[in-house]
Amino acid sequence: MESLLDLSIDALQTEMALLGAPKYTAKQIWGWMYQKQVTTYDQMSNIKKSIREALAAKYTLLPFSEHYFIGDDDDLAIKYIFKIDDHNSVEAVVLSEKDYKTLCISSQCGCPVDCKFCLTGVAGFKRNLTVGEIVGQLLVTMSEGHPITHIVFMGMGEPLLNYDNVIAAYKRFTEESSFNLSGRKITISTSGYIRNIEQLITDDIHLNLAFSVGSANPLIRESIMPIEKRNPIVKVARLLKQYLKLHNRKLTLEYTLLKGVNDTKDQIIELGNLAQYLDAKVNLINLNPHERIPFSPVDNKVLTGFKNLLLKSGVRATIRYTKGQEIVAACGQLGESILTPKTA
Ligand code: SAH
Ligand code: SF4
Repeated sequence: MESLLDLSIDALQTEMALLGAPKYTAKQIWGWMYQKQVTTYDQMSNIKKSIREALAAKYTLLPFSEHYFIGDDDDLAIKYIFKIDDHNSVEAVVLSEKDYKTLCISSQCGCPVDCKFCLTGVAGFKRNLTVGEIVGQLLVTMSEGHPITHIVFMGMGEPLLNYDNVIAAYKRFTEESSFNLSGRKITISTSGYIRNIEQLITDDIHLNLAFSVGSANPLIRESIMPIEKRNPIVKVARLLKQYLKLHNRKLTLEYTLLKGVNDTKDQIIELGNLAQYLDAKVNLINLNPHERIPFSPVDNKVLTGFKNLLLKSGVRATIRYTKGQEIVAACGQLGESILTPKTA
């Protein structure tokens, strides 16, 4: 059964007209879902019971058959697992800071991009998420007491490969009649698809982007991110520069460190050059290891050294300390719930 969250306001209005409900009912229901964040029809107290029943016969409210969460020791990272059908689940993580809460959300079940250091990539691709399944991750976490202020599309999947649904969800996050979050607090992370970045330019959609570099050296990049073959980093960088010129949104370069692969001084200097060319900030992420990933993280001293090297050359650089490792909820660790059992 389809979820009510998959409907646009226009589609909901059509649905209400078919049921013979007054025109304003669609807006009331919309407000219950996106402003009051209710997750059952029963809570929509000013909607006639007959209308609620007719809707419930056709649409579930949430697109998930069940969901549950696991917190780490201090609950600074809480991993939510949403069952989207009999065989598949997706994951989202609530990360709590002193003054704000970030939701790291998924755009696909699994991922087809196959970056060699990423658990979601290892899990393979199942399917794109619907708009309702993306929006539902925010609705559920908000309704369960997490006042989310920031959203990062850094969970499972490559957001730009599910372009239409991700952009529709982004609109619902930011629209005044829906969640009304600031677009400046939403970031879409991409491994860099040329065609889809071109599409963002054509559609005049202004987003904070994060670009997952892997390595600024094309040959090394290709060995860990097969996407490099058809989407060379040199072209992606030129396109990102063009995109940034059109508006004043932010770009972050994400760099996951893999011991003995992309951790030479030369590569960090190349990364710094790329950041300067793009006027971007660099976020260094040490690898979150997993038995299914054939790489190791670098020593913390090395990580700090690279950060200082970048800072000295005038590049804004931070280290992303990973939260949620113990509940397999850190970056690139999402996907555990859809991994097939290991063969001996
Ligand atoms: N598909 C998008 C967004 C999801 S991945 C993208 O690739 O950008 C989110 C971030 O986690 C990316 O920057 C990715 O490089 C990083 N990542 C992937 N696997 C990781 C791992 N095992 N350890 C640390 N970071 C990882
Ligand atoms: Fe997909 Fe991003 Fe993981 Fe690469 S790093 S496999 S693009 S989720």
